[in-house]
Amino acid sequence: MRSDIDRIPEYVPGKSIEEIKKKYGLKRIIKLASNENPYGFSPKVAEILKNQYRLNVYPPSDPGELRERIADYIGYEPEMIALSAGMDGVLESVFKMLIDPGDAVCYAPPTFPYYSILSRIYRANEVWLKRNSNYRMAEYVKGAKLTIICTPNNPTGNSEDFDFVREVVESVRGYVFIDEAYAEFAERDMLKLAEYENVIIGRTFSKAFGLANLRIGYGIMHPSLRKAFMRVNPPFSLSSVAISAALAALEDIDWMKETVRKIVYGRGWLHSELEKIAKPVKSDANFIFFETEITSRDLAERLERRGVIIRSLRNFDGAGENAVRVSVGTEEQNKIFIDTLREVLCSR
Ligand code: PMP
Repeated sequence: MRSDIDRIPEYVPGKSIEEIKKKYGLKRIIKLASNENPYGFSPKVAEILKNQYRLNVYPPSDPGELRERIADYIGYEPEMIALSAGMDGVLESVFKMLIDPGDAVCYAPPTFPYYSILSRIYRANEVWLKRNSNYRMAEYVKGAKLTIICTPNNPTGNSEDFDFVREVVESVRGYVFIDEAYAEFAERDMLKLAEYENVIIGRTFSKAFGLANLRIGYGIMHPSLRKAFMRVNPPFSLSSVAISAALAALEDIDWMKETVRKIVYGRGWLHSELEKIAKPVKSDANFIFFETEITSRDLAERLERRGVIIRSLRNFDGAGENAVRVSVGTEEQNKIFIDTLREVLCSR
């Protein structure tokens, strides 16, 4: 065993419906803890999943057609698209490709916990950057080997300012990873910055496209970076089922956009309801960060007892004691969540 294994934090996923059902003996549970798409995926994806897949043979290791369709979707060349098993897979290969032990990896907590996990696995020198009072990043480090900018940021939901991100990209000596897992829910994106040779933009089919289970992510990067990426990325990281599903999802962009429209509408409703009873932060993603007077652990547990799973942010460095995150659900789920939250906050 490596000597620093205990320093690597475990990834703590949102609690599952089965777990809470069993624990409290409840029939109806709603899960708003993992920023999944409550409307699922396009019927075109459902259709191709009926096909027979030759599961005894390996999938293509670098599926060209999918890279072409993604290239059409985002407006860059297929030579700039690198696929991996979710954006988690993309992130890991980026660390493998760039990080020597002791290199400075900079990011601004509270943010996606996997950055810290990977920094420890690859023995980087983790540097925490400050955020200002509206949760935007307030600084960067010129000498950083890798700066990670999550926009919209998980868990706070705010986007970064385009000009700030461009300034970081132009000022640092190293690379900038822009995590756009939630870009489809936001009004602006950072795609234009993929023109810079030191930029990698991460995207995923897990959120807006509703395919979290199939693990499909991609990085947009300069072709020379892509070559290095492919040396370290595990072979066959996407199954044929995942490749076909992603292709079908891209044939039905309108369907994805319609679910995004509903989620954005639900987000507005949730925000205005939350404002009456808690302190929410304006979100550009499919979730909302908010604080109450109860500790996040307590609040999450009281909601769970009543069949609503949200995310306590106890494991998110820098989130404080009282912050939680709720994913936007269907209209019905959002209503149940607000009613239950009201009940919990008023019954103290
Ligand atoms: N980045 C951020 C900010 C996320 O919230 C997530 C999902 N938890 C990921 C990356 C990873 O997404 P996936 O591996 O499902 O593509």
